[in-house]
Amino acid sequence: MSKFQPVSFYKNKKKTYQLTPFRFLKFNQEKYFLSNMTGEYLLLDRESLGRLVEHQLDDSEQSYLDLRAKQFLIDDTNSIATDLLAIKARTRYSRLPEFTALHIFVVSLRCDHSCQYCQVSRQSADKLKYDMTEEIADKAIDFAFKSPSRNIKIEFQGGESLLNFPIIQYIVERSKKLNEVHCRNLDFVIATNLSMIDRDILGYCRLHGIHISTSLDGPEDLHNKNRPRPGKDSYEKVIKGISLCREVLGRDEVSALMTTTEASLKRGKEIVDEYLKLGFPGIFLRSLSPYGYAIKTKSFAAYQTEQWLDFFKESLDYIIELNRSGIRFQEYCSAIVLSKMLTSSDPGFVDLMSPAGIGISVIVYNYDGSVHPSDESRMLAEMGDNTFKMGNVLTDSYEQVFSSQALLQPLEDSYTNSVPMCEECAYEPYCGADPVYEYAMNQDYIGRRPDSGFCQKSMGIFKHLIKRMEEDPFVKNLFMDWANRK
Ligand code: SF4
Repeated sequence: MSKFQPVSFYKNKKKTYQLTPFRFLKFNQEKYFLSNMTGEYLLLDRESLGRLVEHQLDDSEQSYLDLRAKQFLIDDTNSIATDLLAIKARTRYSRLPEFTALHIFVVSLRCDHSCQYCQVSRQSADKLKYDMTEEIADKAIDFAFKSPSRNIKIEFQGGESLLNFPIIQYIVERSKKLNEVHCRNLDFVIATNLSMIDRDILGYCRLHGIHISTSLDGPEDLHNKNRPRPGKDSYEKVIKGISLCREVLGRDEVSALMTTTEASLKRGKEIVDEYLKLGFPGIFLRSLSPYGYAIKTKSFAAYQTEQWLDFFKESLDYIIELNRSGIRFQEYCSAIVLSKMLTSSDPGFVDLMSPAGIGISVIVYNYDGSVHPSDESRMLAEMGDNTFKMGNVLTDSYEQVFSSQALLQPLEDSYTNSVPMCEECAYEPYCGADPVYEYAMNQDYIGRRPDSGFCQKSMGIFKHLIKRMEEDPFVKNLFMDWANRK
């Protein structure tokens, strides 16, 4: 007697299935985009979507098998699907209990540059009253170590942070001393325009394992236009600085960040080529934020979100073609989004978190001891709007600062599963909220998604990445590689 049922027994059996929660939206004329709470997604034609929700799909269809593999439906062959969904959801939110890992110390507001898009109310280089003192630094370090996070990254920013290098040295040494007791994974980054970097500073950085982060906006004329300084030699200084950093610290210990201005919009390829020429393994295509001088000088309004998206798509498509020709080069904004789309991990990118990453992922200690939940909210404060100011390290305790309504209310309002339009948006698993942006634009933490530049930009990026993956197997493989690269 046969141990198995005949093949017909399996073939003819009509399975019934249950649906798991998912969202969908029209992707193009033929397809609908479906996603579930863990970020798994599928494109399905309208007719199949209709039959899916009416429980009419047949288990021999490819779409049925795909939907089952991604836990959009459960039948008696995948009864562990709900457990899998729960594990994936837990993994996705696993960063939340870690709490604040990035601690930004604004060590000076002084700066030798006068960039039109500068996000702080910079002060001229000789006003010492805009420097952080040891007293404030001590208190801020104590705050940093009160964070439950196993990883503590201290980033020094300005103005130009190196104008107050003595306080950087003080903070590094004191933090390291305290860490003998706290035993955290402690990292340091100096964000600098590199105009005053030298071998002595870099020798100190090498000794203490400090990473350097700088700004590079593109080719010489563009960079100097965006980043004026006396002598009109910002580009020359940054190029020399990068080279010296690499010589003393090693190739990977210096990274660069670009900002898109109106002058950059038609020059995506040249900007990418500049990064390639300098041997960087990738670029972060970054738009202007509507804060600080970017608002004051109206440079934020100098281009619309749609124009930035065109710049982003054109530059990304160029990067894809570079990879197709054998040149490995990455676009980091896409890589972050792709890791949310194609893996179950969340890279914890502050701008795309729900609830928002402000305060719970990043915190800013200003030169005067005031505490802000993000660099952007600190910039608003520099312009006289203290809506997001959480307190001051000199007068408030860690507990008072982190239970401040200036943090809790915008955080509550930033949970995208309860924000109108986001709660039904199929891109929600990859997206986030930026209550500081919404407040800067509309004076309210939630804003209106149909008018929100943040939403328009995020949606534009998601759609383009999905479109490129769907139409080109090479791109799918490339994006899979980016998503999984650390
Ligand atoms: S911000 Fe826009 S793209 Fe993001 S989840 Fe909300 S509605 Fe969707």
